Amino acid sequence: MHEASLMENLLTIAEESLSGYNVTKINCLTIKAGRLANILPDALVFAFQSLAEAPFAGARLEIEVLPITARCLDCGAEYQSMDIPLVCPDCGSNMAAIISGSEVYLDSIDFEQEE
Ligand SMILES: [Zn+2]
Repeated sequence: MHEASLMENLLTIAEESLSGYNVTKINCLTIKAGRLANILPDALVFAFQSLAEAPFAGARLEIEVLPITARCLDCGAEYQSMDIPLVCPDCGSNMAAIISGSEVYLDSIDFEQEE
């Protein structure tokens, strides 16, 4: 399952980025995923709930889906779209070069630490 291995990677990154802190509680993890990454937010939340151990267990997982950024191959316009197939808003062409939209990354961690 795509989401489970992805979630494992994201949790590893989260653990590494918190290694210098004395974390007492994690409130929320925010993940950003491009529209083309084909993430099913429900499946990712499910993977998180089954994989998360202390201190991540019980934290909220927020997933923000980012639009695709593309450049029209006919008129050169750069545009963003949540829809597939891509259609240029300027000329209506569906020939496009994808600039971004398949990235998935841990954007932020909201946590509490011991003073
Ligand atoms: Zn165009």
